Amino acid sequence: MEVKETLKGLTPYQPGKPVDEVKRELGLEKVVKLASNENPYGCSPLAKKAIEDVLGEVAVYPDGYAQKLRTKVAGRLGVGEKQLLFGNGSDEVILIICRALLSKGDNIVTATPTFPQYRHNAVIEGAEVKEVPLVNGEHDLNAMEKAIDENTKIVFVCNPNNPTGNSIGEQSFLSFLKSVPKDVVVVSDEAYKEYVTADDFPETVPLLKEYPNLIILRTFSKAYGLASLRIGYGVGEEGFMQSLDPAREPFNTSAIAQSAAFYALDDEEFLENCKQKNRQGIRMFEEFCEEYGLHCYPSQGNFILLDLKVPGSVTFDRLLKAGYIVRNGEALGFPTSVRITVGSKEQNEEIIEQLRTLVSNN
Ligand SMILES: *Cc1c(COP(=O)(O)O)cnc(C)c1O
Repeated sequence: MEVKETLKGLTPYQPGKPVDEVKRELGLEKVVKLASNENPYGCSPLAKKAIEDVLGEVAVYPDGYAQKLRTKVAGRLGVGEKQLLFGNGSDEVILIICRALLSKGDNIVTATPTFPQYRHNAVIEGAEVKEVPLVNGEHDLNAMEKAIDENTKIVFVCNPNNPTGNSIGEQSFLSFLKSVPKDVVVVSDEAYKEYVTADDFPETVPLLKEYPNLIILRTFSKAYGLASLRIGYGVGEEGFMQSLDPAREPFNTSAIAQSAAFYALDDEEFLENCKQKNRQGIRMFEEFCEEYGLHCYPSQGNFILLDLKVPGSVTFDRLLKAGYIVRNGEALGFPTSVRITVGSKEQNEEIIEQLRTLVSNN
């Protein structure tokens, strides 16, 4: 028995340490995971109600086409229903795009460090990955454009970028889009879009009319607080999106996820509240960095990458002992940093307090 060659160098996704494991190992009563950019405020009560509503229907297959949700999302975005492709998380939309577009001999262009699933899925399809280093935490779009060659099928742009949090402004994104050959697909992964406060963040949906090679990814996992239900989507030009659809499993999104997402869209107040509190949280971490002369990237997401000038594992262990699971930057390409999901005010305060003692003792 042998798996295909492309799988051999890959390792399964390493999730953050599970809360229960840490509780047991360290004998802690309260452990908070701020490692996967989940919403610390959970999800809208409307979404919870929606989940209860469909519990009676679990014996039947979901609507594979997600018609109700599709109609609503299309209306919200002002696009046609057939321009949407729903996935088991936007992770799956990345998988579907790679599966549909890539073969051996092709390549993709991405930034590095960035969200690892672009690389992972491209490698499985036998494609080469051309990685262009970030500059000051930002995509180097000029270098990415230059990296495109006749074998390039997809360019992944992570905006805001995970793990730095930097966002790409409208002007830069537009001139990049103009410069990319028309037969190369540009994927704009906007997983943190709902948290963005930057004025110059590009409104990409209206660009679809002019750029049929653009696909925008959105998810219900982050600001909407539905990570465990696995639902996200891609939006692009109708004919192109329809041509990707056969690469999707027939029942890839569950009825529970569809229903929760449908109702979560109605609770704009919940979303706005999370966005405001997140921004205040980011500011707390930024002020801490200013006070101690430490570096952090200007994050437009719900996480912040802090450089504490000690190995990421040191900071990670310190926070773990205090009951906080964060992401060690050593695994993210930033060896002296940690990536912390912004928590509630109290959680942020507690973390900053820990960081203060850590920094002061160095
Ligand atoms: C979290 C994340 C996703 C994946 O989200 P799911 O919809 O839960 O699969 C995609 N892209 C980026 C950049 C992310 O950080």
